Amino acid sequence: MSALPLTARKEPGELLSSWLDRTAALHRVSRLHLLTWAGCSPRSLRAIDETLVDDDVRVIASMLRSSAEEVLASTHRWLGRLSTGLVRRRGREVECRRCLVELRRQHGAVVRMKHWREGWRILCERCGGVLTQQGEEDFDAELRWSWYAPVVRNAHRGSELVAAVVRGEHRLPAISTSSGEELSVRHGAPVLPGFVTSMFGSKLTSGPKGATLANLSFPCRIFVLAATGARSSAEAEWARHLLRVWEVNRKLGREADKRRRRKRGKSQSQ
Ligand SMILES: [Zn+2]
Repeated sequence: MSALPLTARKEPGELLSSWLDRTAALHRVSRLHLLTWAGCSPRSLRAIDETLVDDDVRVIASMLRSSAEEVLASTHRWLGRLSTGLVRRRGREVECRRCLVELRRQHGAVVRMKHWREGWRILCERCGGVLTQQGEEDFDAELRWSWYAPVVRNAHRGSELVAAVVRGEHRLPAISTSSGEELSVRHGAPVLPGFVTSMFGSKLTSGPKGATLANLSFPCRIFVLAATGARSSAEAEWARHLLRVWEVNRKLGREADKRRRRKRGKSQSQ
């Protein structure tokens, strides 16, 4: 496979699919079209950022005038089986709005960072801001309220604890939680401390022990990680309590919006 005449300049930390999307757009084709034309295997096409096969790594590297290391480093393949519960594939994107705007200005297209898809992330690695989920922008504003400060702090700590477990640094003293229970990896899935899974059981959808952080909504992820990183059980309970408050407020807010829209529709039709 020879190099394409035009290749997009890769942003450091960019996801492979995003880099390929931008390169394909330069040739006015889709990523799927480009990869099929290059002869990539169906397995690579299905989930390029997680299950890219070795032969295709070389094909894509020469196509993008890059190295196999760079291509692999732009994927989540290193997570192996852990990627199932930790890499977001479905649902609305979690992203950093500030960087999204800035990168779009720089590259003239949407650029997606690899770490935005990682289920344990709270902060944007590029600018340090709190991430946002599409459609949950109100929560972003709410997080600035002062009583959320300890929650964000603990969520950040919880996020680092999960990251340490994912990297295999199980013996770090910092990962002991207040209750003495530890985070761990069992049967290829990260397991949150027992007190967290029993507090948030209904939210952690795939089985009582499977912490599918990737599938949680971003606000819920913050509260679950805040409990994980809490220094006392009272702080963990507080995170659970604030999640309930936020859920009730959001429901009430959405109902009020609906009523307002109905009212407006009626007055316009009269
Ligand atoms: Zn950012």
